[in-house]
Amino acid sequence: MLKKKAIPFILFFTATLTLLGSGTNMENNKNSSKIESLLHQMTLEEKVGQLVQYSGTEPTGPTGETINVVEKIKKGKVGSLLNVIGIKKIRKMQNIAVKQSRLGIPLIFALDIIHGYKTIFPVPLAMASSWDMDAIEKASRIAAIEATASGIQWTFAPMVDIARDPRWGRIVEGAGSDPFLGAAVAKAQVKGFQGKNLAHAKTVLACAKHYIGYGASMAGRDYNNVDMSNRTLWEIYMPPFQAAIDAGVGTIMSSFNDINGIPMTGNKELLNIVLRNKLGFKGFVVSDWNSVAEMISHGYAENRYQAAERALDAGLDMDMVSDVYSQELAKLFKNKQITMEQIDNSVRKVLQAKFDVGLFADPFMYFNEKEGKPLVLKKKHRDASRDVAKKSIVLLKNDKNLLPLDKSIKTIALIGPLANNKKDLLGPWHAQGNSKPVVTIMQGIKKAVPNTKILYSKGCEINTANTDLFKEAVEAAKKADVIIAAVGEAKDMSAEAHSRADLDLPGVQKQLLKELKKTGKPIVVVLMNGRPLTINWTKNNIPAILETWFLGTEAGNAIADVLFGDYNPSGKLTVSFPHAVGQIPIFYNHRRVGRPHLGPDDENQFVSKYIDIPNDPLFPFGYGLSYTTFEYSDVNLSKKIITTEETITATVSITNTGKIKGKETAQLYIHDLYASVTQPIKKLIGFKQIILNPGETEKVSFNIKPSDLEMYNQAMEKVVEPGKFEVYIGTNSEDVKTAGFTVSEN
Ligand code: BGC
Repeated sequence: MLKKKAIPFILFFTATLTLLGSGTNMENNKNSSKIESLLHQMTLEEKVGQLVQYSGTEPTGPTGETINVVEKIKKGKVGSLLNVIGIKKIRKMQNIAVKQSRLGIPLIFALDIIHGYKTIFPVPLAMASSWDMDAIEKASRIAAIEATASGIQWTFAPMVDIARDPRWGRIVEGAGSDPFLGAAVAKAQVKGFQGKNLAHAKTVLACAKHYIGYGASMAGRDYNNVDMSNRTLWEIYMPPFQAAIDAGVGTIMSSFNDINGIPMTGNKELLNIVLRNKLGFKGFVVSDWNSVAEMISHGYAENRYQAAERALDAGLDMDMVSDVYSQELAKLFKNKQITMEQIDNSVRKVLQAKFDVGLFADPFMYFNEKEGKPLVLKKKHRDASRDVAKKSIVLLKNDKNLLPLDKSIKTIALIGPLANNKKDLLGPWHAQGNSKPVVTIMQGIKKAVPNTKILYSKGCEINTANTDLFKEAVEAAKKADVIIAAVGEAKDMSAEAHSRADLDLPGVQKQLLKELKKTGKPIVVVLMNGRPLTINWTKNNIPAILETWFLGTEAGNAIADVLFGDYNPSGKLTVSFPHAVGQIPIFYNHRRVGRPHLGPDDENQFVSKYIDIPNDPLFPFGYGLSYTTFEYSDVNLSKKIITTEETITATVSITNTGKIKGKETAQLYIHDLYASVTQPIKKLIGFKQIILNPGETEKVSFNIKPSDLEMYNQAMEKVVEPGKFEVYIGTNSEDVKTAGFTVSEN
């Protein structure tokens, strides 16, 4: 080890470095010799330091003692900080790292930028419902621009966990239940965050999380065990991670859960072998918050010493806040329980990421207050937020074309705890977004129809038993031409640690709707929520329902755009809505069974069904109405028989049979009818968005490649098995046109 006082590394290299690219081999090779030279100079403690991350807001240790982070940074014992907010604070810490630590290695600053930094975009589950990958990429791009302008270089996003269980609060943070769509969204988000060149000052290092299986936490309870077959893992949960890796994601976060008894933070097979060798991940893995230490609670490590050993051995590179690495790795090395090579491997990856984001070229390039400030909440950013927000809204019901409302409408009763509410519209995980700039539904409506009289009444709170405000709400309703009722969840009823067992509208909101219904006035329900809800009563009794999730800063404007027809809704659900909690998990892409239930007319007793509720969801995956109607022709296939290596083209003609222009997302599903492993009854393998004027018809074609027909056989090899296939193209996972073809032996 080099003990003499070296020139701070950063000063040495800033003099010699000009521009650092993130992707080219040449650049990487240049950097690798710098990394090796740096590794050569580092003490064991300094190396361990690079693998340690502390939180700026809670720099407390595992036993509650305050960790003196500043002193640690000076000694080179910290690699990264999360949750340090504001350029001044970040600059102060970076200054200490770069100017006062022996080697001057810059820190990397991280924050959860999930759906925007200051300009808040719709929650991820909402944005996925737009099925618009360009809009999603743009949202991540803008989030990166705003976050980097405030000194952040690394975001803990995207969350690419597949979620089939709406009880799990974190369903709101991801793209929903489908691996194909999840993969497309993951790719768009990584591209948006990381841009074309990570070394550019306006890009952030992304982190695909939570690897892996977290969305399958048993019974939807957060942090719970995961018991999962290898097949489900690969078919359903891996594809979005693979897509993020293929898109170049720089980091991955291990998840809190165990899988089949092995906590992911210490799961060598999945973290090291699968992630590196099979999925081809080259970046570094960070633990989730305190999850290295939590392996003790799991019963997988007896103490912190063993937890550190298991995590490092598994390929976990950076310890988020548990302080276990900082306390134990050096001891483990001295006791020959881990090798220097293991430590170096992890340090190398962390340093590589710091090179990639350009921190060695200029550790302060992110901190320009003057340039940074005008970059947040710009009009351009708000416009982009409004654009994706209106595209994220899903029209669930629209009897007798109650919507869009006529702009000449005289009186609207605007009712509900979310009608004049700013803070909840931000949704959970809203980074530095605050409620002040949020446009409420009330403000959005007033702007859209300035001459309409708005009678506002809160009606009730989101989640209390108090009905005192009902009377006033009903009085307002009686005086109006139409009621708009904004009901749903509070923003902190979903996301981390917010699992729910009852998925009905919280509090007395359903009761409020019942009272409003008694007035006989037409009602539009504007739902806000972070997960599918069991809204049977609402579906059966309310003529028009808009699912608006939590739409962020421009929520009120986006909702008004849809209410008054300035935007014709085009969103489609990316997760099924259950009738009842008892149906969960409910997803469209299930396998066949030996005794299928053939629908409501099937009276057979001994079939796979419930005796008290239907099998079908309340609203299926891919579902979403428009103010116009689309008609699909039959599916035309380019061939009837193909070999396992051939591509087949499926075409439909889609006609706008309604009266206004509209956007349709045509969805393509496949079913391998008989295979060596039973296959899902439908599997999404493509989608296309088209915009049609009234009366207009467009042909939509999909090329179905051999890779789209692949399945994992019994040996878990990806193969195309000859046999019969069915293709479905339609407006949602249930309403489809069908055609069949055969894949022959070559
Ligand atoms: C969450 C992560 C998040 C991390 C840092 C954890 O509790 O599970 O998703 O990135 O905290 O805030």
